[in-house]
Amino acid sequence: PAGRRDDGRSGQGDGGQPRRLSLFDKFEPIARIRRDIEASGIDPLGVPIERIISATEGVIGGRRMILAGTNNYLGLTFDDDCVEAAVAAVRSQGTGTTGSRMANGSYDGHMALEAELAAFYGVGHGVVFSTGYQANLGMLAALAGPRDTVMLDADCHASIYDGLKLGGARTLLFKHNDPADLDKRLGRLGEAAQHTLVVVEGIYSMLGDMAPLAEIVAVVKKHGAAILVDEAHSMGIVGQHGRGVVEAAGVMDQVDFVVGTFSKSLGAAGGFCVSPHAELDMIRYASRPYIFTASPVPSVIASVRAALARLRDDDSLRDRIWGNANRLHRGLSRAGFTLAAPPGPVVAAVFDSRETSLAFWQGLLDRGVYVNLMLPPATPGGKCLIRASLSAAHSRQQIDHIVAAFKDIGAPLAKAG
Ligand code: PMP
Repeated sequence: PAGRRDDGRSGQGDGGQPRRLSLFDKFEPIARIRRDIEASGIDPLGVPIERIISATEGVIGGRRMILAGTNNYLGLTFDDDCVEAAVAAVRSQGTGTTGSRMANGSYDGHMALEAELAAFYGVGHGVVFSTGYQANLGMLAALAGPRDTVMLDADCHASIYDGLKLGGARTLLFKHNDPADLDKRLGRLGEAAQHTLVVVEGIYSMLGDMAPLAEIVAVVKKHGAAILVDEAHSMGIVGQHGRGVVEAAGVMDQVDFVVGTFSKSLGAAGGFCVSPHAELDMIRYASRPYIFTASPVPSVIASVRAALARLRDDDSLRDRIWGNANRLHRGLSRAGFTLAAPPGPVVAAVFDSRETSLAFWQGLLDRGVYVNLMLPPATPGGKCLIRASLSAAHSRQQIDHIVAAFKDIGAPLAKAG
C-alpha cells in the first residue's frame, strides 16, 4: 500500500516514485529489446486472449482469431468428458489440495493417475508433479548430484538445464540430434560413461524436429549409460498408441525414464515421470520440486485422467492432428517458406531477421491467425521463427485459412526466410 512507502524507509524517492533499485540494472539489455519492440507498435509477448471460444478460436484485440500457437495438440481443453470430470472433481473434492504430496496433498486421484500413466507406458512406476517444468526440475535435481555426469542434447528445454543446476551435476552437451557425437563424447568418458545419464527430447519444441531415438538408445546401451526422454511434445501424437517417440522408435523397454507434461496433448497442467525402476519412488523423498510445492488440484487430476483415457482409446485424434500437420506443412512449403523440420505437431517457418519475423507475425494477426513468434536467445542457432502448432481440433478450413494468410503476406517477407 502507498501509505507504507511514505515512511521514507521503504524505497520512496522524490516525486512519489519508488526509488529505482540497482537490482534492476541487469535487466537493461532485455528492457532495451522490449522498448524497441514496443516502439515498433507490435507486441507479440504475452498477448492477452480476451476471450477463449474453443480449442482453436479466441478473441484477441477485439477480433476473432484462429489459435495456431497453442500446445493444445489433441484439442481436449473443451472436451466434454474432460470438462465434466473437472467440474465433478471441484464439486466433490474442492478447489485445491492446499498441501504437498508429502503431507496432505496426495489424494486417491493422484495415485490413480500415477498408476494409469505407468500402465499406459507399460512400466511399473509413475510419479506426478505439479508442472511439466517441475517434472524435469525434480527428476534431474534429485537423480543427478554433484558426483554424477549428465550428457544432454544441446537443444534441451530450460527445465532440464535448470534441474541440472539445482542438483549440481557435471553437465556435458552433445550436438543436437547427433548420435555419432554422443558416441564420441561418451567414449571419451571411459568407465564413467556407465554412470552417465543421457537426456534427450522426443520432439524439440522450437523447430519441431524429432530425435533419432533408436540410434541414440543404441549408443547409450553400447556405453552402458542410462537415458531419460522428455516426450512433452510427442505424447499422444507419435507412436501407434500415442506413447511418443519411445514407441515409434521401438525402444520403450530400453528407456529408463520418460518425462511428460499434462499441459499439451492432455490439455491441462502438471507433469510426470514413468520408469521401469522401482527406485523411482525415492523421488518422493529426495526431490525438492516434488516435495516443496502444493500438489496438482483435484480438478486438474480429474481432467487429465479423462484426457489420458481419450488419448488412449481414440486413435482418430492422432489421425486428425497428423492430417492437419501434413496439410499445413505441404501448404507452406509449396508457397516457398523455409520450414525448420519435416511435418509434425510443430511447424516452424524460419526468417532471417527479428524485424521480418515480427512484421510477419503482426501480418498473420491482422489476418485473424495467432501463432508464436520465437526469437533468440530462446531459439536454437539464433533463428527467428514463426511457429505454428497444430491441433486435432483444427478444421481443414482453418488450416487453409492459415496457409492463405501466410501466402497473402507472402513473397517479399518470405523470401527473406
Ligand atoms: N519439457 C519441454 C520439452 C517443454 O517444451 C516444456 C514446456 N514448453 C516443458 C518441459 C515444461 O512443461 P510445462 O509447460 O507443462 O511446465
